Amino acid sequence: MAVHKKILAIGDHEEDFYLLKKDLSPEYDIVRAKNTQQGLDIFAKHEDALAAIMLDFGTAMADEYAFLQTIRAEHSTLPLLVLAKNKDAELTALTLGATDFICKPYQPAIVHQRLKNLLLLHERAALRNTTEHDTLTHLYNKETFFAKARSLLDTHAEQQYALICIDIEHFKLVNDLYGVAQGDAVLRHVAKALRQQLKTFHGIAARLRSDLFALCLPLRPSLKEDLTQFAAATLKEYPLDMKLVLKIGIYPIEDSSLPIDVMCDRAQMAISLIKGKFNQSCASYNDSLRRILLEEQEILNSMHESLSKKQISVYFQPKVDLYSLKIIGAEALARWHHPVMGAISPSRFIPIFEKNGFISTMDEFIWEETCRLIRLWLDAGLPVVPVSMNVSRVDTYNPNLCNILNALVKKYSIPYELLNLEVTESAYVEHPEQVIAAVSALRTLGFRVEMDDFGSGYSSLNMLKDIPVDVLKIDLRFLRGAEETERGLRILASVVRMAKWIALPVIAEGVEKKEEVDFLRSIGCNSAQGFFFARPMPEQEFRQYLRNKAAPQERYESVLDVPRTFLWSDKEESCFIFNMLPSAAALIEYDGNHVELLRVNKTMIEQIHIQGFPSTEWSNFIEEYIQKAYWGAVHAALHTAAEKRCTEKVCCHLQTKAKTMWVRLNFFCISQEINKTLFTMTVENLE
Ligand code: C2E
Ligand code: MG
Ligand code: MG
Repeated sequence: MAVHKKILAIGDHEEDFYLLKKDLSPEYDIVRAKNTQQGLDIFAKHEDALAAIMLDFGTAMADEYAFLQTIRAEHSTLPLLVLAKNKDAELTALTLGATDFICKPYQPAIVHQRLKNLLLLHERAALRNTTEHDTLTHLYNKETFFAKARSLLDTHAEQQYALICIDIEHFKLVNDLYGVAQGDAVLRHVAKALRQQLKTFHGIAARLRSDLFALCLPLRPSLKEDLTQFAAATLKEYPLDMKLVLKIGIYPIEDSSLPIDVMCDRAQMAISLIKGKFNQSCASYNDSLRRILLEEQEILNSMHESLSKKQISVYFQPKVDLYSLKIIGAEALARWHHPVMGAISPSRFIPIFEKNGFISTMDEFIWEETCRLIRLWLDAGLPVVPVSMNVSRVDTYNPNLCNILNALVKKYSIPYELLNLEVTESAYVEHPEQVIAAVSALRTLGFRVEMDDFGSGYSSLNMLKDIPVDVLKIDLRFLRGAEETERGLRILASVVRMAKWIALPVIAEGVEKKEEVDFLRSIGCNSAQGFFFARPMPEQEFRQYLRNKAAPQERYESVLDVPRTFLWSDKEESCFIFNMLPSAAALIEYDGNHVELLRVNKTMIEQIHIQGFPSTEWSNFIEEYIQKAYWGAVHAALHTAAEKRCTEKVCCHLQTKAKTMWVRLNFFCISQEINKTLFTMTVENLE
């Protein structure tokens, strides 16, 4: 059965409706609304199912005019045929958006034919519309936008334009969390706001793909300000639990002969400047971006020649054992000495190589150089340490990865133990299956694999237990925010502790300060790499390092390491001696306010009747045990001991469960960390 087109007929005149229906119903499905309000309800619910609207004007006409206005404000393009007794209404009706006007009394056959014509025209226009417009938002699609923008620029050469791209930050999350229908609704909302803006902006708008919109508008001084306001207003009140933010990139068109897609790229580059910056929603493509682009082009132009001329070479940075301070390994790092641009940092060229695929060629070169040099060192009888080589995320896609590395090991006869591989954590997070498969195969061959830059890719420790990896590398630089240092270090301590639970060794990289070394040792992290010990160095220099392996420790001298490790140790002899001390002794930590007991000996427990851990007595020793009159003196003694790194004594009344004792407390500073100082405390009974 053929499906009839649905016509919404609005009007309260029974006779007219009967006549109309009689004439049209063999061909159309007539849905009736007795008044404009009913008509609006049906329109709101079934707009997509309707083919046209026929509106019978009553005598007052105000409601009918309002109806026309509402329908057109909703951007409906439905054919709208008005039937009216009053010829005077014709101009107003047409102005407000009626498609056609027929005066009563009318001949049904004429109404029929006019309706048919309107539907035909509308269908043709709709057909053109679907090829020119994005079906979801009804904005131009990419192809139309490119063509229209080109013709705009060509025909208005005297006017300067801007190409603007708009992106909804974290839009993918909307689809993931709330479903595609909600995602579509957000896109339609933005499109509607854009259409509204075009009334004042005078230009063209499109949805290029997914959540990427584009505008081509005349450039004017207030454009950036206006767009910032637009970004702030558009999604501010949008009813969704998550906060949605628009990011806008502006490319002021200087050279209108550039292809439109290049202009769009530039506007998107401007967006990339402000991605993730919560207080900035709008950025322009500017000189610094242009410089970056030119530099990128130079990098691309010269990479092949540079590699073949060995302007790209391998440097080595030692890894150090924090207890023996011996070199336990090294990392091979690429260095580029460009004939024109000078030294280019890997963090600049590696991402470009990863984008264009050249990274695989460069990595193979670095791996081969590393193997060749290890062979040289072995032949020279040097005490060679394991060297780790970086494996880019792109390499993990190469089905030949294992063969390539294996062939190198064979070619240079290198024991597998001397080659470690570093795979960045974010690669694991982005493509877990791929990377897990590649890494498993490498480990089966005999390579140790280190997870590089742990903490930068947001994998969880829980995930680690299922991931094949031998070592975690944590970069202290990720934890070093301006005010967040202490927090970062606490996170580091927890990660090290948890990694121990799953028997995963941790190496800290980016270690720059002596305090960091002390801290790492205090939390049981045994190996480190960083400028504090040595910067990455060329092969000749590194050879020297290998030769006199003692070099790095000359720079490091910790405060009383021996007692510290000794006191913390759980080895039997340390426990024995600690417990056999004739006086009450404790290991305490002081943060400027509170003294926390970390470890107490037997005599201390017997003398002051300390409760079992955990209790407030452990974390609040001063308040719990010392009479208030002496608090000031005890704090002063602790401060002086910490400052002068000496022993300080203070006499006070100690209040135990059983009695009050007159004692002397001796504080001896062992080490200082961020905001915390470690002491031994002995308690002498003076009575
Ligand atoms: P990465 O693998 O995490 O390498 C460690 C980076 O930290 C190196 O940067 C090193 O010079 C730097 N570094 C070491 N100690 C310190 C320190 O104490 N303070 C500071 N601020 N930095 C320190 P580099 O050499 O610039 O390399 C950056 C990244 O580029 C590397 O990070 C690695 O992801 C990549 N990369 C370097 N060489 C290669 C390579 O041959 N192949 C691949 N695929 N990637 C490489
Ligand atoms: Mg690395
Ligand atoms: Mg790293």
